[in-house]
Amino acid sequence: MASFSADEKLWLERLHQPSAQALYLHLPFCARKCAYCDFSSWATKPEDPLMGDYVDALRRHLFEAEAVGLLSCCETIYVGGGTPSFVGTPLAQLVCHARAMAPHATEVSCEANPDSLTNDLLGRLRDAGCTRLSVGVQSLSDAELTELGRIHSAAQARARLSAAVKAGFDVSADLMCAIPLQTDESWRASLEGVIGCGVGHVSVYPLQIEDGTPLGERYGASEPAFNDPEVQAHRMELARDLLASAGFGRYEVASYAREGKDCRHNQAYWTARPYLGLGTGASSMLTREGYESLRKVCPQLPEPDVGARRVRLTCIDRRHELAAARSMADLHFDLEFLSEAQAAAEDLMLGMRLVYGVEPGLVDHARRVLAESEVDETLAWCEAQGLVARKGLRWVPTDRGWLLGNILYGRMWDLAD
Ligand code: SF4
Repeated sequence: MASFSADEKLWLERLHQPSAQALYLHLPFCARKCAYCDFSSWATKPEDPLMGDYVDALRRHLFEAEAVGLLSCCETIYVGGGTPSFVGTPLAQLVCHARAMAPHATEVSCEANPDSLTNDLLGRLRDAGCTRLSVGVQSLSDAELTELGRIHSAAQARARLSAAVKAGFDVSADLMCAIPLQTDESWRASLEGVIGCGVGHVSVYPLQIEDGTPLGERYGASEPAFNDPEVQAHRMELARDLLASAGFGRYEVASYAREGKDCRHNQAYWTARPYLGLGTGASSMLTREGYESLRKVCPQLPEPDVGARRVRLTCIDRRHELAAARSMADLHFDLEFLSEAQAAAEDLMLGMRLVYGVEPGLVDHARRVLAESEVDETLAWCEAQGLVARKGLRWVPTDRGWLLGNILYGRMWDLAD
């Protein structure tokens, strides 16, 4: 019989957890499509009846997920989009229902944009049990916002961030660097501006210019200087230093928080905790046991592959189809079954996004289910390249490892082979 270390036993619990530990709900509606956006989202009118029908469908699907025990250990809920705040009152109703279906969830987040985060909605969300708001700000320069095709102004963003903080929410601001017209000074001003509004969490991302978007058409082939990889790295370093001096700790490659304000939901994605995603384009990651529970309400799903330890599912129904789905049995999914070895390689890769790195239990587990010598050699190679370092019993990424993330993450994922 295999003998497991105490650390590995703890790690194995999450690989067999029958319930999801995090719930994601996707609302794919926006007031206008931003110039850089290739997410699963559509622009529509505030009075579009499809939004109410879509929310009703999610509520039905939540009932079903709860009935088969998939939400019984759920600790966090996250409503993302799209622009959930654009949906208005039905968003608050959805949050209330999700809380009832996942009663152990203590962190309940909603994404919001400044133009639709009204005082009325703040009150409704607070009453519904929402605890955290993640606000898409991107920049506090009006000229930069116009280039990005954002619908709100910098003044509106400041006002709504401050109102959300005052209303008692944990508030996060999303900011984007390496964007058109941005300078080091304007980037600093955006960072200082959101900090000045009292947020406890900031996420920073370099702009990705995607094919098929207006920015992609304008700049795609020209490799614009504003988005150069060196500019991206420099702005991310500026953010790191400025946020650190303001008391924000970095806990993930793109996420900074004051003490106790980390987003637990996002950390679930990087630490092998199973999650259930409902809505068009939403992804789930379930253990084999969780997948078997889901099959009770989704009999259209096939039996898992022999040897599958983890299942990834993405709902491929479009928003009209999802709104019309009477039950989860009507839904369609893309599926991927991962073996124990593939799951371990994926977990090593995801763990390297986190400041506190890869847990000892995962390394023990990876050495057992992957080739032990290859795990050791890969970690030693990454250490020699300055991509990772040992900290006590953990392997943690270095700043260089994050800057060369494609190499670091690629080496971890290659272990699956
Ligand atoms: S608000 Fe967000 S989801 Fe909607 S179009 Fe803009 S970037 Fe995309």
